[in-house]
Amino acid sequence: MQNNQQKTGSDAVVEIAGAGIAGLTAAIILAGAGRRVVVHEVQKGVGYRFGGDFQGLENWTTREDVLQSLESLGLATDFTALPCRNGTAFDPDGSRYEINSREPLFYLVERGPDPGTLDDALLRQAQSLGVEVRFNSRLRRMEGEGILAAGPKAADAIAVGYHFETDMEEGYWVICDDELAPRGYAYLLVMNGRGTVKSCMFSGFKRERHYVQRTVETFQRLAGLEMRNPRMHGGCGNFRIPRSACAGPHPMVGEQAGFQDTLWGFGMRLAISSGVLAARSLLNGENYDRLWQRELKPQIETSVVNRAFYTLSGSLGYSWFLKHFLNGSDVRETLRRQYQPSRGKWLLYPWARRRYRSQRSDVSCDHVDCNCIWCRGDCCILD
Ligand SMILES: Cc1cc2nc3c(=O)[nH]c(=O)nc-3n(C[C@H](O)[C@H](O)[C@H](O)COP(=O)(O)OP(=O)(O)OC[C@H]3O[C@@H](n4cnc5c(N)ncnc54)[C@H](O)[C@@H]3O)c2cc1C
Repeated sequence: MQNNQQKTGSDAVVEIAGAGIAGLTAAIILAGAGRRVVVHEVQKGVGYRFGGDFQGLENWTTREDVLQSLESLGLATDFTALPCRNGTAFDPDGSRYEINSREPLFYLVERGPDPGTLDDALLRQAQSLGVEVRFNSRLRRMEGEGILAAGPKAADAIAVGYHFETDMEEGYWVICDDELAPRGYAYLLVMNGRGTVKSCMFSGFKRERHYVQRTVETFQRLAGLEMRNPRMHGGCGNFRIPRSACAGPHPMVGEQAGFQDTLWGFGMRLAISSGVLAARSLLNGENYDRLWQRELKPQIETSVVNRAFYTLSGSLGYSWFLKHFLNGSDVRETLRRQYQPSRGKWLLYPWARRRYRSQRSDVSCDHVDCNCIWCRGDCCILD
């Protein structure tokens, strides 16, 4: 009986700051266990910082399919999700490499406030469980139980480019080239007559427009990119491993805590997982720091080691990397191994951590007289 009471919790309201995927996930788990939940969202709807962006819900960190994992957590999967198996990568010389995967490598999902988006599916599920979501509401003080889910607090990487309409076939294309996306990668995603093309850069923010222009030109040449009605869009990512992910008694989840895939910025699953863990910590009285350190930290540390190698390899190494990792192999399996914590990567972590530090600003950006997406202060919709 006492256990039951602990699980369903008291009548006290749990407040959550931020209706991103981390905050909404936590709200769904808490409300599903009978807790009263109020989510505060500073914007007038969900997903406003993404506004129709296409993103990859990665499917390589677990053997189990990600949609099945979401279902077993009790989370909605009634959003548009295009399974992506085969795609194309290019190295800095324009050499082409096929990306092949038997199972979906990732699911292309839409982010934003519209029907069919991941954000809308989670919002509807939360509301159907009785969660109150207050829009245009900035939470400034948290008095009782609560979770901080307010998104990135720094720019360790930025992804900038365009959303557009197109007659192109559905698919995905990637280019690893520091001349297009310093220490990152450029990508083109097309689904259902719409697309996004972006330069995801980990450095050189100040020359953002230059890299975006080169990215567009290169995709036009290599992949036949065609854009109608292009609208600029961009955002930032915050990658860091905090000592504690609690602000006082309040768990921090998703990118507010810095939880991200430091290699390439596939942060959605970590946002969801940390939302689940934070809810569990409130429901069962478990120590949140202990939970995420056990369940998430090894994977994030591994991604720091992967980033250190990726940064070291530079443009010359990208060709080697693509040749060895892509040709002929099942890429989902290869990536799963690379993202898997191992003793070797654990030993390399102290070295990697010295090479990669969350910057809270980009070293190539002194923030003086700068108009990059981070300095503009919006880190969301640009126009
Ligand atoms: C351009 C771009 C492309 C990306 N592509 C991918 C991808 O392909 N795959 C992938 O896995 N990840 C991708 N990511 C990363 C992924 O989107 C994030 O890691 C994830 O959305 C983080 O979720 P979150 O809930 O922590 O934060 P957010 O989604 O940022 O949600 C935080 C919410 O809190 C609100 N808020 C902020 N302050 C307050 C306050 N004080 N009170 C109330 N509300 C507040 C914000 O308005 C926002 O809605 C991409 C990111 C960007 C920017």
